[in-house]
Amino acid sequence: MVSTKEPYTFLQNTDSELYDILMREVSREDHTLELIASENFVSYPVLEMAGGVMTNKYAEGYPGARYYGGCEHVDEAENLARERAQKLFNCGYANVQPHSGSQANMAALMTFLNVGDTIMGLDLAHGGHLTHGSPVNFSGKLYNVVSYQVSRETGRVNFDECRKQAKEHKPKIIICGGSAYPRFIEFEQFREIADEVGAFLMADIAHPAGLVATGIHPSPMPYCDVVTTTTHKTLRGPRGGMILMDKDVENPWGVVAPKSGRTKMISELLNSTVMPGIQGGPLMHIIAAKAVAFGEALKPEFKTYAQQIVDNAQTMANALLEKDYQLVSGGTDTHVILIDLTHKGVTGKAAEKALERAGITVNKNMVPFDERSPFVTSGMRVGTPAITTRGMGKNEMNHIVDLIDQVISDIENDTTNDRVKSEVNTICDSFPLYRELHD
Ligand SMILES: *Cc1c(COP(=O)(O)O)cnc(C)c1O
Repeated sequence: MVSTKEPYTFLQNTDSELYDILMREVSREDHTLELIASENFVSYPVLEMAGGVMTNKYAEGYPGARYYGGCEHVDEAENLARERAQKLFNCGYANVQPHSGSQANMAALMTFLNVGDTIMGLDLAHGGHLTHGSPVNFSGKLYNVVSYQVSRETGRVNFDECRKQAKEHKPKIIICGGSAYPRFIEFEQFREIADEVGAFLMADIAHPAGLVATGIHPSPMPYCDVVTTTTHKTLRGPRGGMILMDKDVENPWGVVAPKSGRTKMISELLNSTVMPGIQGGPLMHIIAAKAVAFGEALKPEFKTYAQQIVDNAQTMANALLEKDYQLVSGGTDTHVILIDLTHKGVTGKAAEKALERAGITVNKNMVPFDERSPFVTSGMRVGTPAITTRGMGKNEMNHIVDLIDQVISDIENDTTNDRVKSEVNTICDSFPLYRELHD
């Protein structure tokens, strides 16, 4: 067994090249402030399961119905992952096999749509995701895309326009949710529009999943026909995807089982779109690690954690506003803050670079109605899940905003950068990552 105090000794002894790379990454994660809103740090038990022997197992199919022998234990793990996911999101169906959030979205869209059908999703430049209809993504290539946007004044989805577009284009499915939307997703309003035009409603809760699981963010379940998510963002599990449904129902397209003529359930169609439709063997080590993470998320401490994520984001948002930063939608309900840097005279690209040199990791991000390209951008996105996992709170949030402001106000100055970097190091040292590796 690998001891927790000296992990990776086998790797060290057999492949020092990769061991050194891994150690450099361990150190980078430990010594930088991770403010990328889509990232988090899994617990040590999740890390152990994700690095475990289940990576060896082929298990095409689903528990109890596999194409391979020897699946009794991976079946137990997948069943637990499904049960815990259903409990966590209070829903009747979970497929934990998608390798990523994008695969989950592909499977959901391919189940509910035919090629050429019309979809509506949030514009990428307004906070949407590639898989919601971007022309460079499968979703934009296979489907006819109508993108809705946020309003210039409020930074929230412009429901009047969205409704108009839906009535005009009659989408078969509306996708709600996004990657840079600081506010609660308005499931109920989307459901009204979907009902008015006879569309399905899909929620992609990749970002706020951990907040949804703890009841801090409203649940999509009563409103949406299908829900997709990642497991590695606020949910703090291993990198992966998942598909959920509130209630399983018979499919409305008249698909029947070949022998019995019985109408198939939507769950059956979703399952077969995932495998064999778009994936082969599931990543059983990751599915087992998802089960571990879901078990953690079911504990009361996780709710405290999720609340702290939002409290931290709001503290940060207020501190930014005090320093005259402009925030899209004026603040946040979640873990995400989208900063419009236009009137600071700095591009997203320049801010990201300078902050990176100072040990603060963020990503440049388009803001709604951005006039700069996606490679430059006028904004940056910050998020609190990862630093909250490290145990940071109100004082650190105010301190970090102060450091961000020092860098951005004096962007060309290396002395400022060096000074900030040493303060970042001090903060990081007080909140070590993976204490299991330190003690
Ligand atoms: C992150 C994200 C995804 C995709 O997740 P990957 O695992 O990176 O494929 C999908 N949808 C939204 C809204 C996301 O934020």
